[in-house]
Amino acid sequence: MDKLDREDTRLAVLNDIQLPVWIFDVDDSRIRWANPPAMAHWRASDPEELYARDFSADMSVSVRERLGQIRGECVAQSRTVSENWTLYPDNIPRTVEAVLSAFKLPGERTGLMVQIIDEVRHATSENLRSAQALLHTSAMISLYDEKLDLLYSNPRARTVACCEGQSLRDLLVDSADLHVIEQQIERYGSCDIEAQVCTNSGNAWYSMNVRSSPDSITGKQSLLVSGYDITARRNAQREVYKIASTDSLTGLPNRMALMEHLQQLCEPGNGRFALLFLDLDRFKLVNDSLGHAVGDRLLQAVSDRLKLCVEEYRGFVSRLGGDEFVVLLDGFESRAATALVAQTVLDSLDSNFDIEGHQMGIQPSIGICLYPTHGDCGAMLMQHADVAMYAAKQARTGYRFFNARMNDNLQSRLQLENDLAEAIRRQEFELYYQPKICAREGSISGMEALVRWRHPTKGLVSPLEFISIAEETGKIISIGHWVMREAMLQQRAWAQQGHDFCVSINVSAVQINSHGFVQSVTECLREVGCAPEKIEFEITESLLLADSGYVLNILQNLSALGVRLAIDDFGTGYSNLAYLQKYPLHCLKIDRAFLVDMEQTAILEMILKMGKMLGLSIVAEGVETDRQIRWLQNHHCDELQGFYFSKPVPVAEATGYIETFNPVRVNLQVA
Ligand code: C2E
Ligand code: MG
Ligand code: MG
Repeated sequence: MDKLDREDTRLAVLNDIQLPVWIFDVDDSRIRWANPPAMAHWRASDPEELYARDFSADMSVSVRERLGQIRGECVAQSRTVSENWTLYPDNIPRTVEAVLSAFKLPGERTGLMVQIIDEVRHATSENLRSAQALLHTSAMISLYDEKLDLLYSNPRARTVACCEGQSLRDLLVDSADLHVIEQQIERYGSCDIEAQVCTNSGNAWYSMNVRSSPDSITGKQSLLVSGYDITARRNAQREVYKIASTDSLTGLPNRMALMEHLQQLCEPGNGRFALLFLDLDRFKLVNDSLGHAVGDRLLQAVSDRLKLCVEEYRGFVSRLGGDEFVVLLDGFESRAATALVAQTVLDSLDSNFDIEGHQMGIQPSIGICLYPTHGDCGAMLMQHADVAMYAAKQARTGYRFFNARMNDNLQSRLQLENDLAEAIRRQEFELYYQPKICAREGSISGMEALVRWRHPTKGLVSPLEFISIAEETGKIISIGHWVMREAMLQQRAWAQQGHDFCVSINVSAVQINSHGFVQSVTECLREVGCAPEKIEFEITESLLLADSGYVLNILQNLSALGVRLAIDDFGTGYSNLAYLQKYPLHCLKIDRAFLVDMEQTAILEMILKMGKMLGLSIVAEGVETDRQIRWLQNHHCDELQGFYFSKPVPVAEATGYIETFNPVRVNLQVA
């Protein structure tokens, strides 16, 4: 520090004053000069000892701040500041009335000249302490008059204020907060509020208490405002909220955020909107066969396309979890406009996704609700949209608007779901059998086992109705196991009667992907004791589409056991014969849809040719007419199956059919 010229003429005058005066260097917290009364005040033995004292050691942050403030005020406005201060010479508190003014120090710096006018003797200890508290508190405390102009502010308030004498109106960022304060003061005399205030370091959040009290000087009503900074807490809260309301996989708002948004939209006075509930059919299959990493990437890609495609409608896209997404379209009130967006969404998801080299197609189903027509609260809209989504999925129509009848369907579906859980224990399942006929020899080449559910009240329920429910609820595993065991037992029983042909068993993709499937087949074969080559598993094309190493491995293991593998309903999926080479398959079953129109046989012909080239045995399903049989025989189809020969029938009937079978009786011309 530069030395203060002690011979400074300004100082010479002060030496003769009877009141303590000293020059304080705010920057290094030292007294630079003191007159004799000041020496006495500070109980200093000699000037050098006093100048050597370091006042920063006992100085609180608020005192340091206040001194800086005073220096600033004195310099900027060339004025003096008069204030009560409690000083601690010899550690004895002495409250004094001090006048502070700026004093030029060497090196272009400014210090403070402190002049003690009087010792404050009349103040009570209560007063003194409250004054101290006001000085030191980290709370911002200010007093405003009726016009909201500043009457007083404590050091903390002055530190944060963005301008000298900032009015309450200027302090509050949002004028609506002032309105709330005024209303509450009017009604209750006080107000607690969290508000954004304008400070010298930008906007900050403060928790404030405002109360009305008479000003001790003017006696007029004034507003006493105390507040403390809660910006850090608000930021942390915001961060926590952001994490809690965001889906971590896709970055979309999650269910919680959606429900909050819905609640806002459903508030009275808000306009109409549409809710689209979207679910990906067969997504579970991707997850199960290609692994969760690929499933996750697919969901991210879907979310990206969704966002992009509703962007222009300012749609709110959220993910509920799993493969379920919800889109909100604010302002949409007509079915036509909403249907258009739904179709756009379907179109945008229609083209294949390339995920780590896997080409994948997905089939979304969308359920739609309009507010308030289909529900007046978020929960109801969600429920109804879910119901509509199921209806769309079942009808394979892409999207469906909700209607009240769908609820009844859902009820019966839920009932079926419950009943299914009990069906195995109650032995309500039966196997029917449908024969397959060798096209060349005219003999029975095999039997397909088709499950039937004899429901206690509904009668016979079609597998088309309950297999999908069983797949979604996981019940398919135990049902499938029952079917497999039963069919194997039947194969052996027929074999023992001299009819040792192959029995086909339908297995669901969910079953094949389930843990321990190959082992359960191995054990079942051993337990029942039937020849593996007399068992054929029919799997669906979709299982192979996922192009997964996992599925390939399972099929190879099954094939190693000696069982036969057939692709069921071939041609309905992706008609890509090339991929068939990769799998250890024995048989292709052409879907009966290709036999409906015998004028259009190009695809049928191609499937037959390609199948032959791959060395697969070909079965035509749904054979009903002589014409079909002739055509299929001419084109070297291996096996025929359909109502022409027999419907699926119970065991006893199937056995009777086997025993009395005669190609001539079924009118089959064999070469
Ligand atoms: P699928 O395996 O393709 O079975 C053939 C279906 O076509 C059977 O329907 C059968 O009754 C019907 N069908 C056979 N010939 C003809 C015909 O000439 N004309 C017509 N119009 N239809 C014919 P079903 O028994 O209702 O079975 C439907 C589907 O349910 C089966 O299709 C199969 O995918 C599934 N399914 C049946 N049993 C089981 C099972 O035990 N497990 C699994 N996972 N699925 C099964
Ligand atoms: Mg089948
Ligand atoms: Mg089939």
